[in-house]
Amino acid sequence: MARYCVKCGRELGEETPIVNGLCPDCFLRDYGVFRETPVLDIVFCSKCGLWRYHGRWVQPLSIEEIIRRMVLDNQQHYVNSGVEIIEVDEVSSIHRVGRSFYEAVVKMHVLLGSQAIYSVSGIVRFSVSKTVCPQCMRRASKSFNALVQVRSARGRLSDDEKSYVRSVLQEPSIASDIVEVIETRNGFDVKMFSPVTARRLASIINRDRGARVIETFKTRRYDPSRGRREGVTTISIRLPDLVVGDVVSYNGSYGVVCSVSSSGFKVVDLESGVYRSFKFDDYWSKRVVREESVVVKEYVVVGYDSSMVYLLDPMDGSMIEYPRLANLNSVSEGDRIKGYWVKGRMYMARI
Ligand SMILES: [Zn+2]
Ligand SMILES: [Zn+2]
Repeated sequence: MARYCVKCGRELGEETPIVNGLCPDCFLRDYGVFRETPVLDIVFCSKCGLWRYHGRWVQPLSIEEIIRRMVLDNQQHYVNSGVEIIEVDEVSSIHRVGRSFYEAVVKMHVLLGSQAIYSVSGIVRFSVSKTVCPQCMRRASKSFNALVQVRSARGRLSDDEKSYVRSVLQEPSIASDIVEVIETRNGFDVKMFSPVTARRLASIINRDRGARVIETFKTRRYDPSRGRREGVTTISIRLPDLVVGDVVSYNGSYGVVCSVSSSGFKVVDLESGVYRSFKFDDYWSKRVVREESVVVKEYVVVGYDSSMVYLLDPMDGSMIEYPRLANLNSVSEGDRIKGYWVKGRMYMARI
């Protein structure tokens, strides 16, 4: 059956869509893409540049990109029936059209009659207003309800620990609640708006690093209107100071830490050469204690038999023998092994 445009009378093939009885040319000329000119209300934070979209504050973008997304996302409010915008390719020619309005030209790919894609352009109108986002408002007021103090059991955070903490503080769900971060010689003091987010921060660091978390509450005043005490929740987060190679003691035995992970740490027992696993709880409760006065020396394996390993001290050329414990089962000549002087006794371990 032949098909015709009711306006220009052109005969149309099967592949050409008919929208409202019109061929695409007549339709786009008479109706266009938009039922009415889209009017967009663009709101920025004047301090940080965040952009408010659907009630949320999102990362800063160029004005062209914001227009592109808003047109694409809200098109059902603006387009004529039978038209669907597939992509907004370009936003250009931004110019002022009134006291508070601007216009821009948008080039789009649209689908007509769910059938064929056409490249067209249209005009959108928008206003730009500035306000201060809640996050900047809080920062400006400097009021905080929680203080998170990140420290190390060593006294000072290592560079690795510092960069880890900084990266956690940058996670959007945490960052949005931060009032102020003070980096001190010993660690971080993080003022936060909500104790709930402060606890979330603590549980992330606890999960990742086996940190110990202690929460205290300091009353500032009683607020009769809300019927509760107002104050600051202080959360102390302490990172364990265990690293690979540390000597620890437990139940009268000694071991060398050979791996540290988020869930705990493993040691080689220096007496038996057997590997043992511990949780950070064991460390915090002092069931496992780091030994401070340990002298470490390196030896080279020069031979072994079923029961002994023969070691050379490369510093003075002297030889010693040591029982071939479980962790020395697979030694071979030339291996380097560490000797640990602990409380007047030498232990050998390969970690
Ligand atoms: Zn026509
Ligand atoms: Zn802001």
